[in-house]
Amino acid sequence: MKLHEFQSKEILSEYGIPVPLGKVARTPSQAATAAFDLGGTVVVKAQVHAGGRGNAGGIKVVKTPGAAEEAAAAMLGSNLITFQTGPEGVPIENVLIEEGIEIAEELYLGMVIDGSTKGVVVIASKSGGVNIEEVAENSPEKILQIPIDPVLGLQGFQGRQIAYGLGLSQSQVRSASILLENLYRLFIATDASLLEINPLVVTTDGTLVAADAKINIDDDAVYRHKNIQEMADPSQEDPLEVQARESDINYVKLDGNIGCIVNGAGLAMATMDVASAAGAAPANFLDIGGGADEEKVAKALTLVLSDLNVKAVLVNLFGGILRCDIAARGFVMAVERNRELERPMVVRMLGTNSEEGRKILTSSNLKVTIVETLDEAAKAISKLS
Ligand code: GDP
Ligand code: MN
Repeated sequence: MKLHEFQSKEILSEYGIPVPLGKVARTPSQAATAAFDLGGTVVVKAQVHAGGRGNAGGIKVVKTPGAAEEAAAAMLGSNLITFQTGPEGVPIENVLIEEGIEIAEELYLGMVIDGSTKGVVVIASKSGGVNIEEVAENSPEKILQIPIDPVLGLQGFQGRQIAYGLGLSQSQVRSASILLENLYRLFIATDASLLEINPLVVTTDGTLVAADAKINIDDDAVYRHKNIQEMADPSQEDPLEVQARESDINYVKLDGNIGCIVNGAGLAMATMDVASAAGAAPANFLDIGGGADEEKVAKALTLVLSDLNVKAVLVNLFGGILRCDIAARGFVMAVERNRELERPMVVRMLGTNSEEGRKILTSSNLKVTIVETLDEAAKAISKLS
């Protein structure tokens, strides 16, 4: 689950990490009031679940409440398109109004769960700021990676190693070490999967401030944090993915034109690979899951067909707990409910009650091609794409 910058900063602040003073505004006049209360130069920051705002017009430094109001009016209600969003962008419903800070240096500090070291890795760089992706691409030696032992936790010497790696002076090393300890404590306590402060600013008077913040929480652990659960913002997510989650269907939208319906995550990935190899680009990943009934199968097909990019649907089912006849009835139900959404389907069905399932489909008036092997399925679907 992704958090907004202002939510992430509330949490940072609870853990003693310095952040600029700020207020969230949902209207231009609230933005003006917030700017007036903060006084002086303020920064107006679009709150969206995507990075790259600075280079996309989502961050404005302004000198007066009037200018803050104007900047907020231009942002609120529009969509921000950054290199991390799709072409349609994400809606800006909140702006964060923050006191302007005087920046001497922009550093990068992140923590992420790393599968290869099976623990948290701290990522740090002297060359923080809006072009960090370029730094990582062109000069990876400027990025420091320190794995943390999950039993020992972040140790004192590692804190100092990171602080010196960031090029901080002797007197800043102590505050940086404390900041790192707090950050690690926060990461573990909130079940975070990713945390990023970019930039971690060294101000002109030499203090450290988190000028931007991004926290992702492990979806499977969110239930343990009531306060974090309440921070969810479905406006920032793909509406089909939100619907899928509500129906307990594993669905990830992709940008191809072949809808995929499969039972089992492994089989779903294999099916997508086979389709891709045959030249058909998957429009989604979808795993119906084990105990689906007709209603859930119908919901899955309706979801896939609600994506207007989808030209045809590839179904690959191995009937086990989910019987093929139940799946077939679910498909028929979905199409009968929403005729106008129908697109041709290629169906491979094996396992429990597959004969019955195929009969239901062939005797329905659905546009289905039944195939035996995954190979045939791939050929049939690539023709339709
Ligand atoms: P991102 O592009 O989505 O990562 O947004 P950030 O919050 O990191 O802001 C982008 C850039 O705006 C930063 O790297 C800074 O250069 C600049 N910026 C952010 N806050 C301030 C501020 O208080 N004062 C000044 N002068 N610049 C700021
Ligand atoms: Mn940033």
